[in-house]
Amino acid sequence: MVPRLYIVIPCYNEQEVLPITAPMFLEKIKSLAAAGKVTEDSRVLFVNDGSKDNTWNIIKELSVQDEHYIGICQSRNRGHQAAVLAGLMEAKDVCDITISIDCDGQDDINAMDEMVDAYLDGCEVVYGVRSSRETDTFFKRFTAQSFYKFLAMMGAEVVYNHADYRLISSKVLKEFANFKEVNLFLRGMVPLVGFKSTSVSYSRAERIAGESHYPLKKMIALAVDGITSLSVKPLRLIMGFGMFVAIVSFIGVIWALVTALLGHSVSGWASMTCIICFVSGVQLICLGIIGEYIGKIYMESKQRPRYIISERTWEE
Ligand code: UDP
Ligand code: MG
Repeated sequence: MVPRLYIVIPCYNEQEVLPITAPMFLEKIKSLAAAGKVTEDSRVLFVNDGSKDNTWNIIKELSVQDEHYIGICQSRNRGHQAAVLAGLMEAKDVCDITISIDCDGQDDINAMDEMVDAYLDGCEVVYGVRSSRETDTFFKRFTAQSFYKFLAMMGAEVVYNHADYRLISSKVLKEFANFKEVNLFLRGMVPLVGFKSTSVSYSRAERIAGESHYPLKKMIALAVDGITSLSVKPLRLIMGFGMFVAIVSFIGVIWALVTALLGHSVSGWASMTCIICFVSGVQLICLGIIGEYIGKIYMESKQRPRYIISERTWEE
């Protein structure tokens, strides 16, 4: 059976790039349909993530121009992950497969052919993996690669060099809908659903227009979210480190006692200050990490909705 495809595209302040990339997505759907790989009634689904510019108007105009374009609008900006989730959840009941991709043209849309082929061969999830990062700046490449390595070190399993360009079948999405967490880190959560998966590599281009919305600050926030939502390894590391400090302190106590008993107890102000500073610093870091987890529990316990759709380009 030929599957119905929804391409899910999060858009935040993308008025410069959307008019350029939207026709590329449409072309792709048409060529896939012409090749008999997806149905004619496949769709390009834009998710406006509370943009402050003209993005939503552009999406509405596109939807009038061609029935393949449809769009939903989030009630406010909630971040890339929530936008992708909103699109996927919207699509899961009306299509057979979804492909999520950024709207800036950085991810090679031609990899979609291979993704659909892999689905037709029986894979339910197909990860798009970047084969090279030559077009990224050195800084972006370095921070992004450190990001994956750090995540792996901290026990959060993610597919190396895979961002949020992936094919997911509606079968997997229906199971994924049961993952109710509000701390979203899609690329770490999707592998947890399981099912047969594979990856397809593509080379990443430069942004066609506009600016990146992932500065270092947001990237660090995403890394912290990823680690704390997928793993408790940092807490274990703290415990290990605490034990190490305890052993060292024990040796220190013996040393202090022996020195005092031998009558050499000169004013050890400097060493004392150093130890106090070091240990209190360590304690604060540990408290911070534990606090991060408690914060996560707090947010989860509120059970707030993860996205709110305020408008659609079609009548319901
Ligand atoms: N995006 C979003 N909400 C946000 C930030 C970004 O929906 O709060 C979208 C953005 O429009 C783009 C994708 O997420 O389609 C990736 O963002 P960007 O290209 O800025 O990140 P980068 O590729 O530089 O990591
Ligand atoms: Mg980008």
